[in-house]
Amino acid sequence: MQASPRIAVVGAGLAGACAAFALAPYATVTVFEASSSQAEAFRAQGGLVHPLMTRRARPNWRHEEALQALERLLEATGVRVQRGLLRVAFEARQYTDFQEAARRYPQWASWLAPEAVRDHFPQVHAPYGALWIPSGLLVPVATLIQSLLAHAGVPVHRGVEILDWQETATEVVLQAANGAAYTFDYVVLAPGYGYVRHPELARLPLQGVKGQAIALSSLPELGHLPPVVANVHVVFGPDHLHVGSSYELTFSSLAPSPAQSLQLQEQAAYWVPAIARATFKEAWVGVRVIRPLQPLPVLSPLPSRRRVWLFSALGSRGLLFAPLLASWLPKVLFEPERLPPEVRLTRA
Ligand SMILES: Cc1cc2nc3c(=O)[nH]c(=O)nc-3n(C[C@H](O)[C@H](O)[C@H](O)COP(=O)(O)OP(=O)(O)OC[C@H]3O[C@@H](n4cnc5c(N)ncnc54)[C@H](O)[C@@H]3O)c2cc1C
Repeated sequence: MQASPRIAVVGAGLAGACAAFALAPYATVTVFEASSSQAEAFRAQGGLVHPLMTRRARPNWRHEEALQALERLLEATGVRVQRGLLRVAFEARQYTDFQEAARRYPQWASWLAPEAVRDHFPQVHAPYGALWIPSGLLVPVATLIQSLLAHAGVPVHRGVEILDWQETATEVVLQAANGAAYTFDYVVLAPGYGYVRHPELARLPLQGVKGQAIALSSLPELGHLPPVVANVHVVFGPDHLHVGSSYELTFSSLAPSPAQSLQLQEQAAYWVPAIARATFKEAWVGVRVIRPLQPLPVLSPLPSRRRVWLFSALGSRGLLFAPLLASWLPKVLFEPERLPPEVRLTRA
């Protein structure tokens, strides 16, 4: 890496915070974040991560490296997590898929037949059985982001939206909505769904998927349960039950919908019947970014560019993929040929 290059990170979400943390020891990093207060932005997220996140409970792409990268960040920041989650099979086919997963990956999961779930977790209805995943984590995402930025020790300009970028042979000039211009050697764009607002990014093969989550009143009798993940997930917090999340590929509004809130509660109550008694408190919406043609994240120079990079498309697996991809940045930014081809943008 050249001597302390100037690098801008645009977006202080999970991708931007992981990027800033990874790059800070090697570069002069500055973060720009459009919103002035971030607390709300992350409330829809479940904060859940485990190695068998596919529908059939198969390992995710590079799952071992990815979890190790996340563990390194947790250790470095001292952020505390809850360990262990119950992944309930939500369709008949998963009965055999999950048994097979437990047989093939005993280091990650153990199989609980329906009667074993009843014995261990009498409040949970699991007619097709479940996987107990001790390595599953419940991560306080907002705390992790704040902590990564604090440990990176880099300036974070909040309330500064970056509208555009001009790249020359030697540098990149960022134009901000406040009229200011900033010059850097490299820029890592990590704007999440903000990608739709810039024509160069909006042309890329990306898609937003709306996700709604709700808070319900907590029920003391469920307080000891681990997170339950089925076709919806439930996290049993001290102040509220968090139920998420919907997966809406087409949407015209980013407002939460009362019908969706009701449906989330009904779905959660199917797996944990006592949840039918909880009262609605609040609903939140977030938008995941996916690559519909290639279900893997993006870490790549923009097409026809060298100094402007995109870090995005983390889908529903931000906690799994963001730490891993960010850990590659100090090397690949200067040697993009070292990037795994799966995460590169190849066409506009
Ligand atoms: C309902 C829901 C539940 C989820 N649950 C989980 C889960 O349990 N586990 C998991 O691993 N993942 C989960 N995810 C996915 C995870 O939230 C995402 O993968 C992750 O948040 C993506 O991080 P990001 O940094 O790419 O984008 P974001 O978190 O959206 O951050 C982007 C940031 O960039 C800022 N920004 C945008 N444009 C600009 C600009 N032009 N200038 C300056 N700043 C800008 C935005 O204000 C924002 O703060 C969930 C997502 C949703 C929607």
